[in-house]
Amino acid sequence: MRFYYDFHIHTALSPCADSDMTPNNIINMALLKELDIIAITDHNSCKNVKACLDTAEETSLLVLPGMELETSEEIHVLCLFADSSSALKFGAFVEGSLNKVKNRPDIFGHQYILDSDDEIVSEYENLLITSTAISFDDVFSIVLSYGGVAVPAHIDRPSNSVLSNLGAIPDIAQISYVEVSKRNKPADFLAKQNFTKKYLTVQSSDAHYLQDISERENFLEFEKKPQARDVINLLRGIL
Ligand SMILES: [Zn+2]
Ligand SMILES: [Zn+2]
Repeated sequence: MRFYYDFHIHTALSPCADSDMTPNNIINMALLKELDIIAITDHNSCKNVKACLDTAEETSLLVLPGMELETSEEIHVLCLFADSSSALKFGAFVEGSLNKVKNRPDIFGHQYILDSDDEIVSEYENLLITSTAISFDDVFSIVLSYGGVAVPAHIDRPSNSVLSNLGAIPDIAQISYVEVSKRNKPADFLAKQNFTKKYLTVQSSDAHYLQDISERENFLEFEKKPQARDVINLLRGIL
């Protein structure tokens, strides 16, 4: 059976995302678009994942807690987890390796931490759109140690991608899937590369605005309605 997903959605915690990207707005938009699975992936933080999971609890939508981590080489990597406590522990680890630069909301935008009623709990002080001290080579095994899976983000983008910043995808055993941005058809893009390994692809919205959340267009196949763990295993290449 096909299950339609969008694994790359920012909330109002990402300074570059719209302040309308609240837990209830995101969940309701994903339901309106008849998606089955989404992931919450703010820049370098998991502080809004719990509110989003709580909001979706009584609905048919499966929400994966995640993060879009920026490595020390300024490469974006989607990190997805099976439960919010693992994601929050990973988030705390990443927080310790962030450059402590104060956010300037007037320049970069607000970084709102919200609750499941969409109320602002607080505003995160340090700028989240910056690199961490975690290297691309290390991130995959670190995420695995928290029970999650890491996927190189928008590999076809001219900045903040593994191909733009390293020139190639290092041979790392834990990489099964790569994300291709909406600018390219994944099969066409892969056909033009000289990868020695065969990668599978995901394609998501990278939504910073509600209207950009994916339509029912990208799917993965499962025998029955998957749990978060099933999605993580599939993205790890374990079937
Ligand atoms: Zn990105
Ligand atoms: Zn993103």
